[in-house]
Amino acid sequence: MADETSTKAGPTARGRTAPTHWDLVVVGAGPAGAATALGALYADPELRVLLLDRADFPRDKACGDGVAPHVLDLLAEVGVTGLVEDRAPADRLHLGRGGMAVERRMARPAWVVPRRILDARLVDAAVAAGARLLRHRVRALRQHADAVVLDGEISAGVVVGADGAHSVVRRALGLPRGPMALALRGYAPVASGRRGALVIEFGPRHQPSYAWSFDRGDGRANIGYGEALHRDRPAPTRAQLLERLEALLPGAAEGAEHWVGHHLPLSTARRRSPAGRVLLVGDAAGLVNPLTGEGIYYAVATGIAAGRAVVAARREGRPERAGELHAHATRRILLSHLRHTALAARLARSARVVEAALRASAADRHVFDDIVELGLARGRLTPAIAFGLARELVAPTRPPARDQGPA
Ligand SMILES: Cc1cc2nc3c(=O)[nH]c(=O)nc-3n(C[C@H](O)[C@H](O)[C@H](O)COP(=O)(O)OP(=O)(O)OC[C@H]3O[C@@H](n4cnc5c(N)ncnc54)[C@H](O)[C@@H]3O)c2cc1C
Repeated sequence: MADETSTKAGPTARGRTAPTHWDLVVVGAGPAGAATALGALYADPELRVLLLDRADFPRDKACGDGVAPHVLDLLAEVGVTGLVEDRAPADRLHLGRGGMAVERRMARPAWVVPRRILDARLVDAAVAAGARLLRHRVRALRQHADAVVLDGEISAGVVVGADGAHSVVRRALGLPRGPMALALRGYAPVASGRRGALVIEFGPRHQPSYAWSFDRGDGRANIGYGEALHRDRPAPTRAQLLERLEALLPGAAEGAEHWVGHHLPLSTARRRSPAGRVLLVGDAAGLVNPLTGEGIYYAVATGIAAGRAVVAARREGRPERAGELHAHATRRILLSHLRHTALAARLARSARVVEAALRASAADRHVFDDIVELGLARGRLTPAIAFGLARELVAPTRPPARDQGPA
């Protein structure tokens, strides 16, 4: 097996001769993979990091393109700033169900950045930090005592699987797939009443299910519909997804193009990060919020944590400890939040609870803010949410709510 200092000529990355053995190889250069490289290189700029992706960048990715402000906070910690400076923020969030709705200004604006742009910028940042980028589809992974080998040719001290919902790395570890949702996305001219807003309309079936229209700020909206899958019923067809979008947000798909669909691996509080030299981050680790389908925050958070864990393990002289350190960091950052979102997702299967949450959000800005936090990043089921829900379930006295106010 190659040792950690070997520099034999190997595959070229962005035209430069590269070694065949790397301190860290990241499989997948989406937000999780780019963040892994950034986290590692910020902690140790000398680390030899190879970023592999089967696609050339820029590339599209099925997504609502909603970027929570928390994502930008995390990236700033590893030296990436100015990522969305040229984009218009979306500061209003509209949540609706069956004719009942609440619309408020969010405590902090979010951003809607087409993934073709966002992901290419993150990859550029990783390359600027010192990562090598190589187009390569990984098919096989073998673990040895002192290294991990990909496709019999690329050797690494540590491998991070950031290869998305259908991760080859996860499968190579023999880890099962968790619960999934399926969603379809398109781009359409933004409807005038939905400018500057993130609009979410919850559906009556297969919770969580919702249609969305997210204003990109450039005259177009990212629109789509998604729902949780269940092993006892067939997955919805593309035609059914489009029908359900139209039923929830009539007219939103008018003039839409660039339709693309994808699976979302929903998080549970039960999944454990693997120990050893092979780590999983982002969708590969099954980390999409089961309430909202948001996954970029978790991809970036677990990616940066993985990069740091690799550097810390190497500093101990034990790269094989990277998985354990990452599992520890991930538990500290996310476990309590994942427990709360898992419970909230179970509660949200009840239409009564969703409607009570909308009424409570309209009545009390703290409930609204806390629900946004739970759906976007590291929030909890706070006392404000619990009391608000209890009040509205016991005495649902308020009429359908609509609050446009910024307060
Ligand atoms: C329709 C839809 C709407 C969504 N809306 C939102 C939203 O608004 N906000 C939000 O935060 N999240 C949203 N999500 C979730 C979000 O898209 C994911 O959580 C996020 O992309 C996860 O990032 P990742 O880097 O883990 O995986 P990905 O972004 O999927 O990146 C994985 C990368 O790995 C590469 N790859 C895969 N297999 C291999 C291989 N064998 N070898 C080499 N490379 C490989 C792929 O080319 C890809 O570049 C949505 C998802 C869907 C499907």
